[in-house]
Amino acid sequence: QFESVGFIGLGNMGSRMANNLIKNGYKVAVHDINCNVMRMFSDMGVPTKETPFEVAEASDVVITMLPSSSHVLDVYTGPKGLLRCTNPMRPQLLIDSSTIDPQTSRKVSVAVSNCILKEKKGYWEKPVMLDAPVSGGVLAAEAGTLTFMVGGSEDAYLAAEPLFLSMGKNAIYCGGGGTGSAAKICNNLALAVSMLGVSEAFVLGQSLGISAGTLTKVLNTSSARCWSSDSYNPVPGVMEGVPASRNYAGGFASKLMAKDLNLAATSAKEGGLQCPLTYQAQEIYTELCKDGHESKDFSCVFRHYYGGQDE
Ligand code: NAD
Repeated sequence: QFESVGFIGLGNMGSRMANNLIKNGYKVAVHDINCNVMRMFSDMGVPTKETPFEVAEASDVVITMLPSSSHVLDVYTGPKGLLRCTNPMRPQLLIDSSTIDPQTSRKVSVAVSNCILKEKKGYWEKPVMLDAPVSGGVLAAEAGTLTFMVGGSEDAYLAAEPLFLSMGKNAIYCGGGGTGSAAKICNNLALAVSMLGVSEAFVLGQSLGISAGTLTKVLNTSSARCWSSDSYNPVPGVMEGVPASRNYAGGFASKLMAKDLNLAATSAKEGGLQCPLTYQAQEIYTELCKDGHESKDFSCVFRHYYGGQDE
């Protein structure tokens, strides 16, 4: 039932997500601190706003897709932030799709509730913030096939489902505030560890005389089969169309994987959990970035950390 959608953060992911909303008939207004990207949208006839506050005033729902926690806090609670909006009817729902730590997602959700209680009592009855990060990367953002993992009130989730399905093909309700962000960092932690495991197996296999092509056939018909072996193989020459086949260009940058592992490691430490693989993966990806591979796809760990040979 939301007609007007504000979109903030028009980078690699957000610009494509906003375009899919427009294609699906939503009235979209946008904001980004990057003037070039704002000009690109205004040239397409999309209304642009100078501040998050102005986006909030003009929209039934606002979606943010920002680099990290500090940007999200700034856009929500800053002096020209979303929560400064005084229009009693707008926005009715705030959705953050950035990958950030669950603690910050909960903090922002509480700030939203407090703002509602103070400023808008009588109009908004429930906290209406959803944390809804995505899996799928730039290609899925373009194709509208993202997976959304969503935390917050279930009613708000149900109201937002048509929006999610305009930008993605799956939306999964995960529970209360912060659980969408929690699901996202757990997914990426498991992905990082599986990529490291597969890369290590290929390095060992090749040194023991098995070709990467043969080992791929074995893994993919055996118990070690996983996305990193059958859909995103890290060894150049084994699969077409994956970053490994184009010198690890494009895809999911190592610096983003390092960021997500930092979020997982911080949460694990705060919870007093033993997560040795998380810390090890965090170290490996931090080192890869320091060595200058931060913009290469995260599967470059096969070559640039393990020194793996091409097929
Ligand atoms: P990006 O750096 O390409 O885009 C971020 C955009 O936010 C930029 O256009 C920037 O100018 C804008 N921005 C920064 N601070 C702002 C502010 N205060 N106000 C308004 N705009 C601001 O990043 P991205 O690749 O689009 O990723 C966005 C989020 O999605 C990140 O949290 C990332 O971890 C997550 N994510 C990325 C991918 C991927 O493959 N790129 C996949 C899944 C999730």
